[in-house]
Amino acid sequence: MPTAVPITVAHGDGIGPEIMSATLHILKESGARLEIETIDIGEKVYLAGNSSGIETRSWDSLRRTKVFLKAPITTPQGGGYKSLNVTVRKTLGLYANVRPCVSYHPFVDTKHPNMDVVIVRENEEDLYAGIEHRQTEQVVQCLKLISRPGSEKIVRYAFEYARRNNRKKVTCFTKDNIMKLTDGLFHRVFDEIASEYKDIENEHWIVDIGAAKLADTPEVFDVIVMPNLYGDVLSDVAAQIAGSVGLAGSANIGEQVAMFEAIHGSAPRRAGQNLANPSGLLLGSVMMLVHIGETAAAERVHNAWLRTLEDGIHTYDIYDESVSKEKVGTKEFAAAVVERLGQEPQILKAVRYKPAGPASAESTKPSAKTARSKKELVGVDVFLDWTKGSPNDGRHGVAPTNRFVARPSRCFGPRLYQNRKPLQLRWPARLFVGPGRMK
Ligand code: NAD
Repeated sequence: MPTAVPITVAHGDGIGPEIMSATLHILKESGARLEIETIDIGEKVYLAGNSSGIETRSWDSLRRTKVFLKAPITTPQGGGYKSLNVTVRKTLGLYANVRPCVSYHPFVDTKHPNMDVVIVRENEEDLYAGIEHRQTEQVVQCLKLISRPGSEKIVRYAFEYARRNNRKKVTCFTKDNIMKLTDGLFHRVFDEIASEYKDIENEHWIVDIGAAKLADTPEVFDVIVMPNLYGDVLSDVAAQIAGSVGLAGSANIGEQVAMFEAIHGSAPRRAGQNLANPSGLLLGSVMMLVHIGETAAAERVHNAWLRTLEDGIHTYDIYDESVSKEKVGTKEFAAAVVERLGQEPQILKAVRYKPAGPASAESTKPSAKTARSKKELVGVDVFLDWTKGSPNDGRHGVAPTNRFVARPSRCFGPRLYQNRKPLQLRWPARLFVGPGRMK
């Protein structure tokens, strides 16, 4: 008999413990072979003085099992508490956030009855590298980092996901008409990798009009891959317009470890009342079952859940007198799913899962284009906190030489205006290492 797969489970805060015990009850009854290690994370750990919300021994469990099923946690307000999600993502290198956003019309109210979109968000780079500087007294900056290996990894993941899940098209959203280097690189890598997947259609949209189209006509999209910030914003928009954020699960995938969760938070006001909808976490756990190869159990759980929705057994958040038959609590909802294990939906489309298999060697191999090119040190860029006119005019003791030149700000970002006169708040300058002038 195949052995059980070890997983690490955290019950979280607020509604977390209720929705986790409902989810684990359904998983156990489904026949999924799991060996559960439980860890504490979140509010209790934060308030005990650990600002990251997770203890060292919990990292050991995660590194051992490599699979994390996590209930939502509460981040205490104020103080120096870090986001546990960001800490876990960065520490474990979880580069892909995958969020299926599906409507369940007519059983859950939505303006988009045919929506079935998967958002694949890059999870480590972009503005979320958390590198910010104060350049001058009145100017601050945040670095947007996009790397070729990072872009290749996420774009390839999106195409592999599409192939494995029988999806027909992958769309890329960027703003490369403005950010020609950063978003330009992401788009270029998308085009290169798309050309290797002849069986899957591909397209690119500028993110602003793409977002408008997604909110208006989501059914024209299938899988959408995006850099971190656009993905963060648009994955919430997509989940909400599908019907309810309470219904969406998500996966955070790394090369070694993966984490699965609901997209919503710990909803503390609903805690301890047997009210919360466990569906988001349950669907996150279905993604986990597929990831560890328990595809038969994943299908049984997902189809029983769809049948429960169809039978009108609904928690308060999606209850609607015109379609619902019974308003139930968290435990009763879980019991209703368990009763339907082995059944399939009759109106909604039943799901079928193929084993995920190991990541293809291709998926993590850097392309030849990552090879290092020859580099030459030209100079060092500095920012002058300077408001007395051009530092280049020689009148203020910062004489330009052929080795030190301040550039006008239009070379390096927008001008700022005050009373219609350009207001120079910082002067990007370059100190050359040898004789030379700025072009
Ligand atoms: P939230 O998602 O917890 O709740 C917002 C509202 O959505 C709730 O008041 C409730 O009405 C509804 N809701 C959410 N999940 C539901 C469910 N399963 N069933 C029924 N109704 C549900 O967002 P919030 O109130 O902004 O955040 C509360 C706490 O959660 C904060 O401390 C925040 O930091 C944390 N949070 C954690 C995660 C995570 O752990 N992944 C994600 C987001 C927020």
